[in-house]
Amino acid sequence: MNYNIALIPGDGIGPEIVAEAKKVLDQVCQVYGHTFTYEEVLLGGASIDVHGVPLTEEAIATAKNSDAVLMGSIGGDAKTSPWYQLEPSKRPEAGLLAIRKALNLFANLRPAYLYNELKGACPLKEEVIGEGFDMIIVRELTGGLYFGERKTFDDNGVMTAVDTLSYNEKEIRRIAVKAFDIARKRKKKVTSVDKANVLDSSRLWRKVVEEVAKEYPDVTLEHMLVDNCAMQLVHNPAQFDVILTENMFGDILSDEASMVTGSIGMLSSASLNETKFGLYEPSHGSAPDIAGKGIANPLATILSAAMMLRYSLDLDQEADAVEAAVQKVLTEGYRTVDIMSEGMKQVGTTQMGDLIASYIG
Ligand code: NAD
Repeated sequence: MNYNIALIPGDGIGPEIVAEAKKVLDQVCQVYGHTFTYEEVLLGGASIDVHGVPLTEEAIATAKNSDAVLMGSIGGDAKTSPWYQLEPSKRPEAGLLAIRKALNLFANLRPAYLYNELKGACPLKEEVIGEGFDMIIVRELTGGLYFGERKTFDDNGVMTAVDTLSYNEKEIRRIAVKAFDIARKRKKKVTSVDKANVLDSSRLWRKVVEEVAKEYPDVTLEHMLVDNCAMQLVHNPAQFDVILTENMFGDILSDEASMVTGSIGMLSSASLNETKFGLYEPSHGSAPDIAGKGIANPLATILSAAMMLRYSLDLDQEADAVEAAVQKVLTEGYRTVDIMSEGMKQVGTTQMGDLIASYIG
């Protein structure tokens, strides 16, 4: 098959880690007989340096014309980089928010997977970790409290602030459909997280999710209150497969779930729109402190590329092969410096990419 991939190397370690992900994708093409055509897109500081703005219309058009976007990370050191002398709307992060909006990315996917080999980085007790865990948080990204009407006013001499949490059934349905589709590619269980004992928006959420669930009789649905979910993530994380939730709950729970894996260099993510199109990127930032040193961990970006194969291109077998290669390098004891531990073999960014590519096919 032929696919067009927009590549956004970005800033800091971005170009180094995206180069390794591309190396792995090239190997996938060779082994499985696909052709990926790449077009590079400037975003963030890299775009400011060339065009004076963090995102151009041309960059948006290139991304829109692709089958999927693979990104490294953007941004620099806020204390030393000249990008942060610019007004906020011209800084690198503004470009990222703008491209997410332009591409209508409303579903955010954050897997939290604990590799047996990296159990030492997990802050949970051995008996809680058990056989490990493998979940994915599907968070609604463009509605709810962060996008509702807000105001601060003087109410008869008392300063008062109001934020509005609103969802309509269409917004809930489209994110629920994503979560059930993803569950079908996994262990076929959706835990929908809400606060239906208090909030009207959660009661509508629950009703619509139940309607969607009827179209997926092969997927098990359970509901969980958000406070209970926060506890269960550190009490029994293995119970989860797909967690479906609204914007603010998802913001908090996805960070909690990431932390229990303990390794920032291993965390992939994706943001999808209503079609199969998505933007795939590691959860970490551009790590300016280690940029150019050849030591950044490329695995989060490589795992994001695997998500791209699975969710945008429907190449499940190829995604499995990339994930198996990551598992194999860890089993064989190869580590970048951020996940290094005693007795393991330390490798740099390009060596890690070479190893993963060599284990495919
Ligand atoms: P960061 O994630 O870049 O770095 C935090 C720490 O983790 C640093 O010590 C860094 O060296 C380390 N680290 C991160 N990724 C690593 C990797 N792959 N391998 C090895 N070590 C790694 O967070 P920060 O320092 O708060 O932010 C730096 C810049 O990144 C800022 O400009 C911020 O705005 C930007 N940022 C961008 C994104 C994005 O592009 N989506 C996300 C978060 C932060």
